[in-house]
Amino acid sequence: MEEKKTVKDFIIGTAGHVDHGKTQLVKALTGTDTDRLAEEKRRGITIELGFAHLTFADGSGAAIIDVPGHERFIKNMLAGAGGIDYALLVVAADEGVMPQTREHLGILTLLGIQHGMTVITKTDLVDKEWLEEVKLDVGRLIKDTFLAAGPMLTVSALTGRGVGELKDRLQKELSSLEPRPPRGPFRLPVDRVFSMEGFGTVVTGTLIQGSVREGQQAMIYPEGTPFRVRGLQVNNRPAEEAWAGQRVAVNLAGVKKDRLERGQVLAAPGFLESSLMLDVRLKVLPDSRRIIESGSRLHFYHGSRVALCKAVLLDRPSLAPGESCYAQLRLQEPIAAKRGDPFVVRFYSPVDTIGGGRILEPCAQKHKAGDPRVLAGLAVKEGGSHKERLFQYCEEKGGQLAEKEEAARRLELSSAEVEQLAGELLAEGRIYSLAQGIWLSARAYESLFRGLKRLLEEYHAAEPLSPGLSREIARQKLFGRKAAPQAADKQEKALGESLFKLMTEQGLIRQEGRLLALEEFRPTYTRRRQAIREELLALYREKGLEAPWLEELYAAKGKEEEDYRQVLEAMLAQGELVRVDSRMVISRQAYETAKQAAAGAFRQQSRLTLADFRDLWGTSRKYALALLEFWDGQKITKKTGEARVLTGSLE
Ligand code: GDP
Ligand code: MG
Repeated sequence: MEEKKTVKDFIIGTAGHVDHGKTQLVKALTGTDTDRLAEEKRRGITIELGFAHLTFADGSGAAIIDVPGHERFIKNMLAGAGGIDYALLVVAADEGVMPQTREHLGILTLLGIQHGMTVITKTDLVDKEWLEEVKLDVGRLIKDTFLAAGPMLTVSALTGRGVGELKDRLQKELSSLEPRPPRGPFRLPVDRVFSMEGFGTVVTGTLIQGSVREGQQAMIYPEGTPFRVRGLQVNNRPAEEAWAGQRVAVNLAGVKKDRLERGQVLAAPGFLESSLMLDVRLKVLPDSRRIIESGSRLHFYHGSRVALCKAVLLDRPSLAPGESCYAQLRLQEPIAAKRGDPFVVRFYSPVDTIGGGRILEPCAQKHKAGDPRVLAGLAVKEGGSHKERLFQYCEEKGGQLAEKEEAARRLELSSAEVEQLAGELLAEGRIYSLAQGIWLSARAYESLFRGLKRLLEEYHAAEPLSPGLSREIARQKLFGRKAAPQAADKQEKALGESLFKLMTEQGLIRQEGRLLALEEFRPTYTRRRQAIREELLALYREKGLEAPWLEELYAAKGKEEEDYRQVLEAMLAQGELVRVDSRMVISRQAYETAKQAAAGAFRQQSRLTLADFRDLWGTSRKYALALLEFWDGQKITKKTGEARVLTGSLE
């Protein structure tokens, strides 16, 4: 497909105190009045987000989001500020730095915005000395922020003085920015929802990640509602595809307008997960007037969403201005976030921006404060290598298996990367592989083995005669579930089987047919049963292949039949006897001897008759036939005409 993307797409966002001339400046730059609402016109202030498009001399351009400055509408400002690439902090020359100048700058910093410039406007209202004072003041404000690296310009939107230079400077600044990677699964936090005559339901937002195409399947989060992208518009023009860094209107097929609202996220199907619990790095702004106590209720802002949450600080009772720590945010309604996403928190009452940070775990388990394992795990999530993060992921799975594709999705790595890193962890003995692409942390493996060992010890002590415990019972007890749902049951079975196989390979346990035993365990017999065992050993040694039918043997024992039966079963499980058919068993030794003789004969001759075997083994037709039919059943031999050929192995 032809690459249509010729210009880089960026979003510029305004910021600054109410009435400082942001909307006027956007109008001077673009010709668009972003105050669309009647109420905005009447009151002369911006309430909602406004959108305009800036076109440069060379035809390239950028979208501008104009935000409200009034403290009452900070939540609208936040809904727009998350997706911006470049900030314009606007300060009116006559008023200078005001409360929302500071608050907006704090929010931009918390959101991780890295590029921007400061514009001092309304210069027509002040004299030169005053302007110099304001510039110094603004310089002090931005000194330690991302804006310190950007330019500071002076303009008058009223007279137009400096606006041309501002536009040129913006173009230059944007041309040096790295665009967001335009490919991959898309994500679009919704900031507006409306219906269009003859067009249906439309949502708009900043495409913060990936690309989206007309006709593709997508999902609304956190609900997980599927829909189809019926149509797209980029900068008010129809488009087949849109990519990160663009303002996009999406026409949704299959969803009613009343199911949509600001704060939802549109994304590629399966790209996000919804959750009520986040682990985060939380910081309090240095100029905050408040501290955060553990357990405080806060307003939480992420993308275009706002929710209430309780902040549990994980390593301290309270967090002072300028400090940061690990915290768990417990939300009142679900959100769909990704690791690394920025967020802002504001006080519940009175509403006041105090801090924010980065999401480290978007789908967290509930933690207790002060747990050193949790803190160490978060440190890995925050700054650990890919390998350490994969290990941490396996550890957190506990007794559950870590699966390659899921790990790749969660850690945002490719499956090839996950495979390679898992290989290193396997070589270091930190995880175990139970099947291709299925892992278990060493800690979980060892704890499962300890559990199984305890089970087997208890079982062997209670049933010294039994050769082992049924693997079904072992599995059930080990995973502690009785009536497991079908799917879980299947996974549990696979996990159990691979686990038993690995433990057997490592010489920790023995598999006795369908039974499990500790490697060092041997069934012990009561004195009477020991005598029975010795009697049976002697009997079968003497009879060789010509062993008695079991029926006859038991019938001769009268009341002791059950004892004989149990000892015989134990000897079979132990391998001292071999079952030839349902009616007959022979000694292991007789079996091995017959097998070796047959193997030797087959080396001489490929076809052997029943008579050949009879002579070879020095027995009668009846017993030779019983053993041969046993082998036929096991596909070791096969009858063709009067003779038998070797189809399996006798080694
Ligand atoms: P916003 O709240 O930051 O968007 O501020 P507006 O753009 O709505 O402007 C607030 C008021 O300041 C309006 O009455 C504007 O006409 C006025 N204003 C904006 N820019 C200038 C300017 O450069 N010079 C003068 N004299 N007035 C301005
Ligand atoms: Mg405005």
